[in-house]
Amino acid sequence: MTESNPLLVEGDFPLFDQIRHDHVVPAVTQVLASNQASLDMLKQRSPDEVTAEDLREFEALEARLYDAWHPVEHLNAVMNSEPLREAYNTARAAITAYQTKLGQDEALYQLFKTLQEKADDIGLSSEQRKSVANSLLEFELSGVALTGESRGTYARLKNEVSELTSQFSENVLDATDQWKKLIEDPKQLIGLPNSAMEMFRAAAKADGQDGYLVTLDAPSYLAVMKGCEHRELRKEVYEAYVTRASDQGPSAGTFDNSDIMNRIVEVRQAIANLLGYEQFSEFSLATKMAETPEAVLAFLNQLAELSLPVAEEEMRALKAFALADGGVSDLKAWDVAFYSERQRQAEFELSEEALREYFPAGQVIQGMFNIVSKVFGVDVKPCPAMATWHPDVLTYQVEQEGETVAFFYLDLYARAKKRGGAWMAECRNRRLTPDEHLQRPVAFLTCNFTPAVGDKPALLSHDEVVTLFHEFGHGLHHMLTKVTCAGVSGINGVEWDAVELPSQFLENWCWEREAIPMISAHIDSQEPLPDVMLNRLLAAKNFQAGMQMVRQLEFSLFDFRLHHEAQNDLGIQGVLDDVRNQVAVVEAPPFNRFQHSFGHIFSSFIGYAAGYYSYKWAEVLSADAFSAFESTNPFDRQVGDRFVSSILERGGSEDAMSLFVGFMGREPQVDALLRQEGIAR
Ligand code: ZN
Repeated sequence: MTESNPLLVEGDFPLFDQIRHDHVVPAVTQVLASNQASLDMLKQRSPDEVTAEDLREFEALEARLYDAWHPVEHLNAVMNSEPLREAYNTARAAITAYQTKLGQDEALYQLFKTLQEKADDIGLSSEQRKSVANSLLEFELSGVALTGESRGTYARLKNEVSELTSQFSENVLDATDQWKKLIEDPKQLIGLPNSAMEMFRAAAKADGQDGYLVTLDAPSYLAVMKGCEHRELRKEVYEAYVTRASDQGPSAGTFDNSDIMNRIVEVRQAIANLLGYEQFSEFSLATKMAETPEAVLAFLNQLAELSLPVAEEEMRALKAFALADGGVSDLKAWDVAFYSERQRQAEFELSEEALREYFPAGQVIQGMFNIVSKVFGVDVKPCPAMATWHPDVLTYQVEQEGETVAFFYLDLYARAKKRGGAWMAECRNRRLTPDEHLQRPVAFLTCNFTPAVGDKPALLSHDEVVTLFHEFGHGLHHMLTKVTCAGVSGINGVEWDAVELPSQFLENWCWEREAIPMISAHIDSQEPLPDVMLNRLLAAKNFQAGMQMVRQLEFSLFDFRLHHEAQNDLGIQGVLDDVRNQVAVVEAPPFNRFQHSFGHIFSSFIGYAAGYYSYKWAEVLSADAFSAFESTNPFDRQVGDRFVSSILERGGSEDAMSLFVGFMGREPQVDALLRQEGIAR
């Protein structure tokens, strides 16, 4: 049985040409049962019997499960089918139950405590020590060390918050779906592109109506805000959108999240207190790179102080443009996107379609490989030995100094039954097995670009080029690791607010004058992107960078202060008003209840709660790290090699801050990001 199930065959990479949906449940059931038996043995070790081998054995058990499960998760995402989905859901439920039990297992927790206490005696490496420390923290944050009454309280609160957060999301969904506006006269929608008109017409048809149906789904909302010339209609749609699931607007009180949000914040605070943290912000930071709440607030406030004058200047320019262009002298929140879009088109004539012709997929991919070869000394070659799940999928091996160190799959194009978006996922982790065999890392790189049409090659927009570099950056982080302890190898164990460093770092080459000729070649003339177009592309990059920055800071400061000031009585709206007074340049009307649909921080127990700042934090890290090339050039191998050895090879084996300091020789500074976005010089 084991031998015939391809999911359980060990090897460099999964047997994608043999895996079928009916292999899933038997494989997972078998691994979970045998893992449970092995865990029971492990837990029986008395403290003086515990050795370093036990950690490796524990990791081998995890690897056995995930080496079988990652390919299934991946197939479910990119080759979905009814029977596979069913098998996937059954197996996933079993794995979730297994994991939950593991996280609450006191005997296992004791085993890890013993490993930590005996680290010197049993010769744990620094990587292994870090991995053990991470596991202990995870156990503690999931309440394993609580005793007596607090154990029950913890379980009750966790249950409550899980119900509250799912109610929050349901309310947002229902409120979004409930509001619709049928427009019969297309003149009301003047200014909108054909694609948007088709979308509205299709929505009306699906609803059994004639005309154009405007809804609150993001593409519909954004299309109206950016393109609709009819100001009153913009206001109406804006009001419906920003009052979803609240006490305001056209559906006031129907799906009101107000009480739910108050209670979520209270429960989070109570859980943090129970686990020994004074504020939820501190609980959230326990697994992040930022050390203290004060450090996060100082970071956000510093960015705010430096960006606000620029944002105000951009707002003055926008107001002047709106007056000249549309005779609007009182620019409102529902006018901002509309006039910004017109201003952008007036200032930079950039046609996305014309740009695409310079970025055929093949040229971009080969150019990207050439860039990483020059900068990091990493060679990427096709690897035909790897079986795939679809003929479009490309397979590669990664070499350093002639030695193959990793493998990856590249699945670029959108197709039916494939989940949207772009991501990098682990297939195999680098680790040393109990019998001293080196498992090499394997990565899945998935995008959803527009496929080739007819005999033309697939052409990428510049945004898509940036996405590809971004995901390949995550991929390099996973694949170039030299760590052999699975818990901290590759992207494992890397702090949440630092994990985007390598991905955003690699994006920089998409904006480099010397790199663009390597990734561009016109489909007919083979010419690289001409200077005129390159200059417009670079100039448009930072349009309204200050306004975008303060908007993100508004969300970040609101989220962080809400979870850091349990003692204050401002209330949720009060904190938001206070933050807006500090950083906003677009005046929010009194009915605005944006927070009632802020899913990032209210739709799960942690999610981005007291963590929304991570977006900016990681941007600062990547821009700052990239500035190491400023004094030389973006192809300087020495700097590239240093990035590989100080960051990419190290995975989660050390705190992200020490790794960053190891690379830059100092802690991160915000200047480089501000320069990169044209906010400071
Ligand atoms: Zn990313």
